[in-house]
Amino acid sequence: MMLASVPTGNAKKRLALTFDDGPHKKYTAEILSVLDKYGVKATFFVIGQNAEQYPELIKAEYESGHEIGNHTYSHKRLGSVNCSAMLEEIKKTDDIICKITGECPILFRPPEGRTSSELEAAVFAESKKTVLWTVDTRDWAHNPIDRIVKTVKTNVKNGSIILFHDYITPNSDTPEALGILIPYLMAQNYEFVTVSELLTNY
Ligand SMILES: [Zn+2]
Repeated sequence: MMLASVPTGNAKKRLALTFDDGPHKKYTAEILSVLDKYGVKATFFVIGQNAEQYPELIKAEYESGHEIGNHTYSHKRLGSVNCSAMLEEIKKTDDIICKITGECPILFRPPEGRTSSELEAAVFAESKKTVLWTVDTRDWAHNPIDRIVKTVKTNVKNGSIILFHDYITPNSDTPEALGILIPYLMAQNYEFVTVSELLTNY
């Protein structure tokens, strides 16, 4: 007797695209237009002082249905400042984002991923969640586009949180890499969700 095989190839997988350090006048706008072209939702971990400078981009992110997370006010790293200074940076950034969108971020991503149990507990006490990533595209290291693409293709799996950056000085290849990766990942049956959606079990 033949057993019917269960089709596994069509199972939906989920991932979250994340963008740190923005908003940036040129590159965030480019990233938003690539995301919009494919109807894909992402999460932006923004820097408070950049949000202050480009509130219209924060508004555009929010109104397009993307999630906005907190990435400190001036990209301070734990270690160069202490936990309470980090918390001040986080609160200041929350206020800025709240003022622009009317919604307070739930997620916090520490610059360079530097956190500690003390900081995580303090963040948690503010009803926030610390979020790192599972796939680093290394776009920040000026990796060429094909290397960024290959890194994602090699490492992506169901539940991945993929780290990109809104901008890399002086020139960023991230929007172009994204234009290659999104259709590829769609063809692999990935569904693009925000980090909060990814972390929600259903
Ligand atoms: Zn950063």
